[in-house]
Parts: sequence; C-alpha cells; structure tokens
Amino acid sequence: MEKVEELYDKKVQCPVCNQEFTTNKVRTSKLRLTKRDSDFLAYYEGENPIKYNVFVCQHCGYAAIEDKFHNINSKEREIILDKVSSNWNKRSFSGRRSIKKSIEAYKLALYCGQLLNFEKYNLANICLRIAWLYRMKKDNNEERFLYFALDLYKEAYYNEYLNDGTMDELTLTYIIGEISRRLGKKEEALNWFNNVLKNPEIKNNRVIERMTREQWQLAK
Ligand SMILES: [Zn+2]
Repeated sequence: MEKVEELYDKKVQCPVCNQEFTTNKVRTSKLRLTKRDSDFLAYYEGENPIKYNVFVCQHCGYAAIEDKFHNINSKEREIILDKVSSNWNKRSFSGRRSIKKSIEAYKLALYCGQLLNFEKYNLANICLRIAWLYRMKKDNNEERFLYFALDLYKEAYYNEYLNDGTMDELTLTYIIGEISRRLGKKEEALNWFNNVLKNPEIKNNRVIERMTREQWQLAK
C-alpha cells in the first residue's frame, strides 16, 4: 500500500550566510493528536512536528525557531558569523530527525538566542521544548531544562511585556504554576494557580480555568 510521506522538504535561504539548505516539516494533514500533557506537550500518531520547529543552517550553524529564523538584523548577523560560524563543524539537520538530533537543534537555537539577547520569554519557550523532548525519551535531563524554563518564565513574568501573541499573561501564570508543580515546589505552584484564578480575565479562558483547577487539586 502506497503511503504519503509524513515529512516534506522545505528549501530555506539562510539570512546569515545566504546559502540554501533543505529542512523537513511534518504534513499537517497527517497529524492525529493522541494526547496533551498538562504543560501543553502534544503527542501525535507518527512524527511530532515539534522535532522540526528549529531550522539549522548546515553551512554556517545559525539556528532559530522557524518563525524567528528570518528575523535577524545586520549587527546580529555579525555576532552569529563571529561566535557560531567560525567554529561550526558542517553537518546537516535535514531528513528525519531522531529525538537526540532535535535536542541538538534546539540547543543550537538556544545558544544563538542567548548570543542575540532574545527575550527571556523566548528562551524559556526553547528550554520548555528541550524538556519535552527529553520527556519523550524518558531522560532525566527533562528536570534540568524545566528548571531553566521556570526561571526564565518568571523573569519574563516580572520584567517583560508579552507582545509575542503566542502566550497571554494567564497562560504564562498557569505554566509557571504547572512547571513548579512538576518540580515538586508545591507551595509555589499553589500560589501561581491562585493568581490565575484571581485574575478577572479568567472568565474569557475556560480552558485555562479548568486546567488550573485540576492541577491545583493535584498539587493539593
Ligand atoms: Zn547559513
């Protein structure tokens, strides 16, 4: 029986070295959600698209999450050329990625994001995804990256204006509570969950309200 490939090729031009490379993505028509963890990790039948969200240029080593990849100015480009490309061992991230290979891609994106002074919120999102990939492979490093994500999300909560559009304040408060709970910080988790439930905006987000009440019970 002929099966449609679940991955497809995407050609990308690198904004740092201007060379072209191929990366792969999962066909959205092939996606069947099987479950979702309480910190939003989604599982699918077959390949998980989060493994392919980071683009890595095989020629110069520049790496970033897909939607930020082309968002780089000339000063930042110089930083990548100087700090990353000069030490880069050429290797490709195209084709099917093992979990190990995707972790490597995310770590490169994290390194580039740190060099380019990304907002803590963006770095936290990368760390949470690395924690998820370790979870998929049942590796204890998950905890280490949950700690990094927690610290960065808290810094974002206190110091950054959320303009990214991918996470509102309620969801951010919830995720800080939920990561705290997963790391066994019960009191902290309950405080963050209470902050979610006290927020008047909760009326407009029944999903987060329900999840917060469930995880609050678990922490209790
Ligand atoms: Zn490049």
